[in-house]
Amino acid sequence: MGTTIATETYDLLVIGAGSGGVRASRVAASLGAKVAVIEERALGGTCVNVGCIPKKLFVYASQFNEQFERGKAYGWQANDIHFNWPILRDNTQQEIQRLNGVYGRILDNAGVTLLRGHARLLGDGQVQVEDTVYRAKRIILAVGGWPFIPDLPGREHAITSNEIFTLPELPERVVVVGGGYIACEFAGFLNGLGVDTHLIYRGDLILRGFDDDIRQLMLEQMRHKGVQVHLQTDIDAIEKTSTGQLNLALNNDSEMQAGAVIYATGRKPLLDNLGLENTQATTSKSGALTVGDDYQTAEPNLYAIGDAIDRLALTPVALAEGMDLAHRLYGKTGQGPGAVDYPLVPTAVFTQPNIATVGLTENQAQQNSVEYDVYRASFTPLPLTLSQSSEKVMVKLLVERASDKVIGCHMVGAEAGEIIQGLAVAMTAGATKADFDRTIGIHPTVAEEFVTLREPVTK
Ligand code: FAD
Ligand code: NDP
Repeated sequence: MGTTIATETYDLLVIGAGSGGVRASRVAASLGAKVAVIEERALGGTCVNVGCIPKKLFVYASQFNEQFERGKAYGWQANDIHFNWPILRDNTQQEIQRLNGVYGRILDNAGVTLLRGHARLLGDGQVQVEDTVYRAKRIILAVGGWPFIPDLPGREHAITSNEIFTLPELPERVVVVGGGYIACEFAGFLNGLGVDTHLIYRGDLILRGFDDDIRQLMLEQMRHKGVQVHLQTDIDAIEKTSTGQLNLALNNDSEMQAGAVIYATGRKPLLDNLGLENTQATTSKSGALTVGDDYQTAEPNLYAIGDAIDRLALTPVALAEGMDLAHRLYGKTGQGPGAVDYPLVPTAVFTQPNIATVGLTENQAQQNSVEYDVYRASFTPLPLTLSQSSEKVMVKLLVERASDKVIGCHMVGAEAGEIIQGLAVAMTAGATKADFDRTIGIHPTVAEEFVTLREPVTK
């Protein structure tokens, strides 16, 4: 069959209907542009289908056992508690399908045309989708990323975060490789679901890039909850035995057996067979598309946003970039949300307990030669006192000495993301430590600790 040339020309073709692509196309269409978005998988992209949403649902699922245990100290007795994997798996998939439908309606209502299939750039504003070539004045690449598994013998036996949500059965023992967001979150929920969970990390402390106090406490808490963390360890080879179990040869000359090995060793932009060679667009050393402040690649009228560029791989960032770019291209001057303030992007890791953070870590403050004071408290939160849990909360503020501005807020504790989101507003508004001090707390909460920290930590 030959290739058809579509007769109409779009103002904008967006490749990828994930977080960034859907937002960019919807906003561009609402500003009057004629837009089509191209998607080869399920609508909603990584976040909806194999990322934030199923992950967070699994994190919720994994917390019930601990809640039942803690409930005993409050007088509750629950008998015959057990976990049913197919119920969680299938209900999660049902919710994902509902969200796929929501995304479809968002595009429909905004007047965005949805084109199904793999998109390939042909250059000169042309994009081939299956057998049809479409033309556009502008193109946005919102193609997202894909899990990366390092080259090692037996890598074909490893799985990634993409597969875990639909496994036919939950293995008795799982090895998670990596020490970043996904490795720590997945090890946490698997452990909570009753899986014998091992985390293998090549470095000496998990969660590189986060504040060191937070990393240290998180490591302790993970171990305390039962995740077996093996630091300075890596897998040399994976072998599948006749029983279907995996035999792992480790770099410390020991071996380990597991039902599944999940590689959470980072993600790379999804640029396969995208036809980049037909354009002048370039990539960085990490494999991400290089763009300027206006999100334009080296090819005129070819833009990129979200996980495909070398900034922050987070859903709200992809959304903000999509919105900013759509306004830059089709909005009136001064009406858009403006450039993304990357240093003030808050983030949470949905470990058990959660981590959340906004602003500078101590290491970053030192690298930037900022003179700062640290305010910190670590304690057992009230809900855990009756059950005599040894789980700890940590709240930590970094304050610039010269300006009194709060330059970093960090937390380990239940619902840390919910708390730090509010503090991110305060930091975006330029709050000082004096502003925090004159804010009245809500008692008894964990969050009130952020406004009652009076004495800096002496080093
Ligand atoms: P994506 O959402 O990945 O969308 C890209 C889309 O483009 C995909 O649907 C893909 O199929 C499509 N596509 C690619 N190439 C083509 C092509 N050539 N033709 C047609 N279609 C194409 N972020 C958070 O903020 N909070 C979280 O809790 C969180 N949890 C996560 C958990 C996991 C396990 C993972 C993997 C990620 C998580 N993230 C989280 C990150 C978040 O999912 C991403 O930052 C976000 O989805 C990026 O959006 P995007 O639009 O750039 O790309
Ligand atoms: P991360 O970059 O967070 O972590 C990757 C981990 O893999 C690091 O610990 C890294 O070690 C290790 N690693 C990298 N290469 C190798 C290798 N060759 N061998 C062994 N270990 C290796 O990536 P993730 O995959 O965890 O997540 C991708 C991104 O998705 C995150 O950065 C985040 O932006 C986003 N995300 C956000 C979430 C949220 O908002 N809650 C949740 C999940 C994902 P080292 O530190 O030594 O380099």
